[in-house]
Amino acid sequence: MTNATNVSIFVTVGIAVAQVTTFAAGEWQVIKVSGHDYLTVDNISQFYGVPAGVAPTGDKMQLETKKYSLEFVSGSREAMINGARSWLCFPLVEQDGKYLVSRTDVAKTIEPLVRPHRVAVGKVETVVLDPGHGGHDKGQVSKYGYEKDFALDVARKLRPLLQSKGLRVIMTREGDYFVPLEVRAQIANAARNSVFVSIHFNASGDDPNATGFEIFSFTPRGAPSTSDNAVRSTSFSMQPGSEVDAQSMALSACIYHSLIGHIPEYDRGIKRARFAVLRLTKVPAVLIEGGFLTERGESKLISNKDWRAQLAGAIGVGIESYRTLGVKKQPPMLVADYRKQIKPMPIQPVIQEGQLKEADASLINLVGKSAFFTPQQTSTPPRRSSLESAPIVP
Ligand SMILES: [Zn+2]
Repeated sequence: MTNATNVSIFVTVGIAVAQVTTFAAGEWQVIKVSGHDYLTVDNISQFYGVPAGVAPTGDKMQLETKKYSLEFVSGSREAMINGARSWLCFPLVEQDGKYLVSRTDVAKTIEPLVRPHRVAVGKVETVVLDPGHGGHDKGQVSKYGYEKDFALDVARKLRPLLQSKGLRVIMTREGDYFVPLEVRAQIANAARNSVFVSIHFNASGDDPNATGFEIFSFTPRGAPSTSDNAVRSTSFSMQPGSEVDAQSMALSACIYHSLIGHIPEYDRGIKRARFAVLRLTKVPAVLIEGGFLTERGESKLISNKDWRAQLAGAIGVGIESYRTLGVKKQPPMLVADYRKQIKPMPIQPVIQEGQLKEADASLINLVGKSAFFTPQQTSTPPRRSSLESAPIVP
């Protein structure tokens, strides 16, 4: 349903580690398109350690470094970031032979997904599990049962897994009854050091073959949601955003990579929406769509309690991965890492080469200070020059 139809030539660029470490960040060159700020793909690739002068000859641009991979499609909001489909707020624009990405996406989508370990993940003590629907609100329906029951079962299976990791778990509902959406958010907001994970199953009215996983966090201020097909002028209306945009995206990334890494379902991607539970929560919050009840094979899987246990396990690993970000500040496991594992779903912290460097000063300017650790936590002083010369002011 959302597959890209572009068939095109890939431009792959490799880079040595030495180049990554010596790259002087901080030269963001903002280009105005219809009054909105954009950055070139070249500029972004330089920032993340790809040599300058990437010259895509097709519709797709694939940028690979030792650590990160980024793929953009001309004219599209679809991107692949570190091996997972990720939806930009605004489509890529081509102007004067250059490919441009909105500044909003660089700050709010690309950075937290490329480097979630640089997001200032606070202490996670409580996980608020929110099984969708309940009571009179059955949610989606398959011939095997109701979404409300499947979602509750996944949450019930997930709870002991999280508790065994020392996390406190609060369920927004324990049984088959309806809880208003604002109450669900209030429960999360009242819990100390919490994250909110809403569990749902999907349905498609127009495509009975639609399958796969997707995950949502709240749409940034001024941006359209992923389901808004046309980017209309109203898309730019300044609806309030979230204070924890970056954290929610990092949580999305951690859970989603685990989901598609553990379970071979179609990768629909990391998306944005203004669902009430995401809008009303003040803590990092995501909404998982764990497959389609309208598709024959997938609805049967969802009806299988062992499969739901697997789903719960994958969500649990993802939540643990997010918590680990705040402790170790190292890159989380990605879909490819999970798929390489022989044993399914071991929960272990990821140790990767290279310590967290100071957050680039220019990026802090772009993304906002609150999203990052303060540079004094590291031994290297921040680059004054890039702070001063950075052309982007939050
Ligand atoms: Zn639902």
